[in-house]
Amino acid sequence: MANRKITSIDDLSAKDIQSIAEKAIKFKNSKKRILENKPKNIFNLFLEPSTRTTISFELASKNLGYNSININFEKSSLSKGESFNDTMDTLMSMKPDVLIIRDKNNFSPMEIGKRSKIPVINAGDGTNEHPTQALLDYCVIREIFKKKKIKIGICGDIKHSRVAHSNIKLLSKLGYEIHIIAPTYFLDRKDLKKINNKIIFHKNLNSLKELDILMMLRVQKERIPKGAKNMMSSFKKEFCLQNKHLLNKPYLMHPGPVNRNIEISDDVLDNYPKSLILKQVEMGVFLRMACLQYILK
Ligand code: ASP
Repeated sequence: MANRKITSIDDLSAKDIQSIAEKAIKFKNSKKRILENKPKNIFNLFLEPSTRTTISFELASKNLGYNSININFEKSSLSKGESFNDTMDTLMSMKPDVLIIRDKNNFSPMEIGKRSKIPVINAGDGTNEHPTQALLDYCVIREIFKKKKIKIGICGDIKHSRVAHSNIKLLSKLGYEIHIIAPTYFLDRKDLKKINNKIIFHKNLNSLKELDILMMLRVQKERIPKGAKNMMSSFKKEFCLQNKHLLNKPYLMHPGPVNRNIEISDDVLDNYPKSLILKQVEMGVFLRMACLQYILK
């Protein structure tokens, strides 16, 4: 087996991204359950809260006939004080076919990937990346727009959002026009420019006439330094998405969970007809099936 991994969008070429997306969309359109001949053992280690990602990885494994083994923090020896590396060595000694990991520390999936030959999928590392979310977002975009090069806006807490970082890498790799809308306190402008120096920055939601898609992000309360909580209230005042911002009728995305009335108003969240938020959740399962097959090829 080739030593494949998805710890970052950097691990994938544009060709890999397209073939994973094609596979996911094919899975979505296929009515049959796809069972692989040889069951594989997929370990899911989630050391931060998760609803969509854990369940969709578990469903994806089961849809392919694999064994999905969930290890959560409370049940692992990490909660007894075992060091992170010792726990990883223990898990890797059981020779899973794939290790899926979510951790609060940036780059831990990459480090585990270096310590072992077992393929690793990053299910979100701190503020750094969440590559499978970006891949599933791309599948939803591709289903609607095919390969047309549309204009995509990403708005909110860019600085602390691993979803934003992976999406910006992926969309840059595929040549999309990216608009970033964020207040300076939620922006890591220099880092973004290193990824793509053609990104167009906006200070508010009022000037977004030509976007085809607007992706809102969750304000990452748990990652905002203590003492800076007033960012939340000023963000809410200036950036909470209302119908008046959507006159041009772009499609709306959000990786979830949403902070209602902080990044999206109740009215938009409950009634906006071009919302793709639940389609993103649905695509999550098919995309993760495609990622498992890619990595096990
Ligand atoms: N569910 C996504 C993540 O784990 C988005 C979020 O939590 O804001 O990063």
